[in-house]
Amino acid sequence: MDWLRWRAEHTPEREVLRFEGRSWSFGELDREVSLLARRLAVLSVGEGDRLAVLLSPGPLFVQAVHAVGRLGAVLVPLNTRLAAPELVWQLKDVEARLLLYDEVSAPQAEAIAARLPGLAAIRGGRLDAVAPADVPLRFQLDPAAVHTIVYTSGTTGRPKGAQLTYGNHGWSALVSALNLGLSPDDRWLAPMPLFHVGGLAILFRSVIYGIPTLLQPRFDPDAVHRAIDVEGATLLSVVSAMLARMLEVRGGRPYPPSLRAVLVGGGPAPQPLLDAAARLGMPVVPTYGLTETSSQVTTLAPGEAPRRPGSSGRPLFGVELRIEQDDRPQPPGEPGEIAVRGPTVMAGYFRRPEESARALAGGWLHTGDLGYLDPEGYLYVLDRREDLIVSGGENVYPAEVEAALLAHPAVLEAGVTGVPDPRWGQAVLAAVRLRPGARVTEEEIRGFCRERLAGYKVPAHVRFVDALPRNAAGKLLRRRLAD
Ligand code: AMP
Ligand code: MG
Ligand code: MG
Repeated sequence: MDWLRWRAEHTPEREVLRFEGRSWSFGELDREVSLLARRLAVLSVGEGDRLAVLLSPGPLFVQAVHAVGRLGAVLVPLNTRLAAPELVWQLKDVEARLLLYDEVSAPQAEAIAARLPGLAAIRGGRLDAVAPADVPLRFQLDPAAVHTIVYTSGTTGRPKGAQLTYGNHGWSALVSALNLGLSPDDRWLAPMPLFHVGGLAILFRSVIYGIPTLLQPRFDPDAVHRAIDVEGATLLSVVSAMLARMLEVRGGRPYPPSLRAVLVGGGPAPQPLLDAAARLGMPVVPTYGLTETSSQVTTLAPGEAPRRPGSSGRPLFGVELRIEQDDRPQPPGEPGEIAVRGPTVMAGYFRRPEESARALAGGWLHTGDLGYLDPEGYLYVLDRREDLIVSGGENVYPAEVEAALLAHPAVLEAGVTGVPDPRWGQAVLAAVRLRPGARVTEEEIRGFCRERLAGYKVPAHVRFVDALPRNAAGKLLRRRLAD
């Protein structure tokens, strides 16, 4: 049965959501979700249609997550930080029926809708004017049906839409609780965007566990601390850049024992940062996960972090891990590509049969990440998939930034890599070789990129060079760019 409907029937009074001083019970959210579904039906969202959302964290996002199921539609959460050309590309690729956006994204969304005549678009605030249709809604849930298509970039080419099913999300929530435990007093604090699986997963856990999400419109370390100190948040998900900001403003004040686990994921977490958090009594729990696995693959158990420095934990229940070298499983201690199998692995990429077959060859998801397992089965991630830069928890694929740079008429060659950055973990560095006689400033290059790329992908550093490091075969050696 529809998870939210089950909650509305069995625990209607319990709190499901808190946002900007307002609170929702399961019963209330359930009614709002059906109302939204009936309005979306009028806007011709039906069976199999893709509903794209360009929304900041808030109640409308939460409603949309649950409304799609009642229509048999599929949710496509768009990254609100992307530049217009990136969004246009994804909306076309996914053939979205309707784009739902909010006030904050209105200028962006309206410009995009004007460029895509086939796409209907509506601002959240205008939904009230849509008379709901008396269509039959479905409350039966098919574990194999796709709930979400989440775009994620690859080392080559354009982003791909990972298809996550109800079964994927449901298992992910359940096995997360088998690791972290569950208390009826739990409250999950979500200070991160909901368009990544790390944020989205919290909404599913909330309805499946029957606990509230404390949702925040954006990351603000003071608001996070208020939620922990005053509102009784017991669980929290962050990326390491957020954790670093929190400790910076905390001023050494210990965290209360009510905070029982802090998931740190989305990229590597520096050990000194984890140690500093642990000294303030924060129960940090490093985790490794991907969009394609509906969030966590491995996670340390609460309390294990100090004894397992550098590890991202063991696989959650039902999930298998394998380290592969030349398609052969490796013994403990030997590094190789991390492969994952289990109920949280996606149902392939949307309309990409070849890339899906490659990614899921032999029934294992090939992550492209390098790591090894210790004899007790704890995972150590050695390196990200080739060349991936993680800046403030957002992924940046050098090839995408290089393509934007090469579109500039003055640029002959470009190479992009990550360099250490105290605030964001990594920052984007571009090495650019200009055409003979061309003149252009660093700021012009950045401005050009800004029109084409999300802000976090725009190179923080631009270096003009006479030659790029290449191997004998002419392949760009990105890792040497920073030298
Ligand atoms: P995404 O699918 O956008 O969430 O990005 C997933 C990628 O983030 C993984 O394939 C890894 O490269 C990286 N990542 C996630 N968790 C960790 C971790 N604990 N340590 C190192 N890299 C990580
Ligand atoms: Mg990805
Ligand atoms: Mg990520």
